[in-house]
Amino acid sequence: MNPIEQILENYPIMIIDGAMATELENYGCNLNDRLWSAKILMENPELIKQVHLDYFKAGADCAITASYQATIEGYEERGLSEKEAADLIKKSVQLAINARDEFWDNTENRKNRPKPIVAASVGPYGAVLADGSEYRGDYVLNEDELVSFHRERIRILVEAGADILACETIPCLIEAKAITRVIREFPEIYAWISFSAKDELHISNGEKMSDCVMWLEGEKQIAAIGINCSSPDFIDSLIKEIKGKTSKPIIVYPNSGEEYDATNKKWNEGASSKQFTMCTQRWYEEGAKIIGGCCRTKPEDIKAINDWARK
Ligand SMILES: [Zn+2]
Repeated sequence: MNPIEQILENYPIMIIDGAMATELENYGCNLNDRLWSAKILMENPELIKQVHLDYFKAGADCAITASYQATIEGYEERGLSEKEAADLIKKSVQLAINARDEFWDNTENRKNRPKPIVAASVGPYGAVLADGSEYRGDYVLNEDELVSFHRERIRILVEAGADILACETIPCLIEAKAITRVIREFPEIYAWISFSAKDELHISNGEKMSDCVMWLEGEKQIAAIGINCSSPDFIDSLIKEIKGKTSKPIIVYPNSGEEYDATNKKWNEGASSKQFTMCTQRWYEEGAKIIGGCCRTKPEDIKAINDWARK
């Protein structure tokens, strides 16, 4: 059964978690590395489980695994064997499942909320290149090559027992099509497709959001469509673009709104948590049913969603 549908049958909103990397950095990890949080899967997996627990405690109904940048290719470049790489990808799912089960075992935690689900992150091809192309979509690969790139990791994530696939920060329709083709090979699994956006109307490579939604609409295994890892300023307009083009729930989990200052190598804390919280409530009123945060969002931001959504 479709795990999102199951939650939304009983609750008006599904709350997803916030940034994994930001929390790992708050715990003292150095993520200045091509592998990003996938590096911590190798070095300190227990910390990843801890961050999942922090988000469940904050009110998340869904944990997104640390597999965004975890790929066979990426780990092989680091000198790991194919088997070792596959085991680490599998581990990202197991850690989230363990955190969820531990959390749910305590009956105190079961009040006024659904049993949380585990969404296995399927990062875009650009995330492996680590050159920012997941925000441009200017890939040299064609659709068949993208199918080959995604197939093995998706197989591992499905077999590891993920409840759903979080196909996220997708910059171009061709990659959404390629992922959808792979997903059809695993008819038991559901997935959401979440694009990165360049403005109020377009996904990163310039294609119209509404066109992407219409292409995905007929796909039975796609459980939700939306946007993540983009400026919160674009979200209101993009929800309007998606609405009316699909019967599927709309998912939004943008960045916090802080901007990265490359010159001084630090984040400008422009948008406060309070502003982010107010936005999340408005996005819900505008039609988004699945809401959380991407880069730079924290457990407090997820707790703030929980505060207005689960009174
Ligand atoms: Zn992000």
